Amino acid sequence: MTETSGEPLRFLCADFVPTQDERAFVVIVRIREEFLRWMSKSPPGLQWLQVEGLLGDRDVWAVAAEDAGDLPLDVVMTDPAREFAQLYRLVDVRATREVRVTIYGKPGVLKAARLAASLGLPIRILPGQPSAEAAAQLLQVAEFYLRDPMVQAPIEPFHSMLATMGGVATLWTMLEEDPLVFAHHDAVDRAILPRTTQPARPEFIRTHLAGLIAENAECVDCPWQQACGGYFKWPDRNYSCAGVKPLFACMHAAMVEIGQELDAFQNTPS
Ligand code: SF4
Repeated sequence: MTETSGEPLRFLCADFVPTQDERAFVVIVRIREEFLRWMSKSPPGLQWLQVEGLLGDRDVWAVAAEDAGDLPLDVVMTDPAREFAQLYRLVDVRATREVRVTIYGKPGVLKAARLAASLGLPIRILPGQPSAEAAAQLLQVAEFYLRDPMVQAPIEPFHSMLATMGGVATLWTMLEEDPLVFAHHDAVDRAILPRTTQPARPEFIRTHLAGLIAENAECVDCPWQQACGGYFKWPDRNYSCAGVKPLFACMHAAMVEIGQELDAFQNTPS
């Protein structure tokens, strides 16, 4: 899901959307009444609804499948082990509008990603700071994305990692958590840093990574520093990256393999 103007895309709680503002924004809805209210109107600037905690509500998805509008939905799964079986509720909805599934990097992420992919849904995985079990599942999701012909729609961040490895984009941007590009607001409408209640501050990512390097943290000689930008050291700076570095290695190996196949193809005499 993308928005193309130069201003940050704002993520606003349902009660804090200005009435006279045509700048781009996303509305976060957490209860049925908010969902129904925002489905019934699409003011200028509204890019999509971020739907949290409602996958278990059958009535919500019945309305979404019957609604004539085309407002895209980003359906967030914070507990994939518990919620994954409810993904079937999105089958009829995706026939009417763009639907993406955002899955937290917790145990159950592999099952949820496999099922969402089998339903043809684009996926964004928010790894955060995964446990060892979740990190192992994330690696399996990456391999699933790379190798399984059933995968038709993008699975982020692996899709963007493959496309931009060696470029300037970091996980922060790929996962829509870079505050310069995506301005997330809390329940009292303050811009906050990703996955915290801390107020947003300019140049957060640059200063975060610079601070880690100044502290001689694990990032200093990490081969994946450019693509990561210190993502996995937030908010806990002491998080060990032993379980997540294989994700980068896996994607890098795939990129090398693809490059070699392209070279071989181009050098094949016609
Ligand atoms: S993977 Fe870990 S050590 Fe490497 S740059 Fe990212 S946060 Fe730092």
